[in-house]
Amino acid sequence: MNKARRCPCGRGEAFEDCCGPVLSGERPAPTAEALMRSRYTAFAVGDVDYLLRSWHPRTCPAALTLDPAQRWLFLEITRTDRGGLFDDTGTVEFVAHYRDAGGRGALHETSRFARSGGAWVYLDGTHDD
Ligand SMILES: [Zn+2]
Repeated sequence: MNKARRCPCGRGEAFEDCCGPVLSGERPAPTAEALMRSRYTAFAVGDVDYLLRSWHPRTCPAALTLDPAQRWLFLEITRTDRGGLFDDTGTVEFVAHYRDAGGRGALHETSRFARSGGAWVYLDGTHDD
């Protein structure tokens, strides 16, 4: 077997053992934080389908275009509130570091997550910077 690729979300696991099965739909994200990590990974690998699938139907955009010049460098989860196995809502605050045509930048967001049909989905977020 080839040397496993580290998952972009930064948990230190191989992609195949971390966000990979979540992106492919094989395994649902058990917590809001896991869903947040999987969405960061989807941004990093350009998986637009997964980003739309993991978006709450109420707030999901009709289409999503990623900036091909934007490279996601690493993710820092700074705070989580609820979003556990027995919760229906959760909040995750994070800083996502990237590089794009304008240089290096960081997206600081507080995201809200909810369950839809039992699975965690992204509801919306506020940018604090
Ligand atoms: Zn991961």
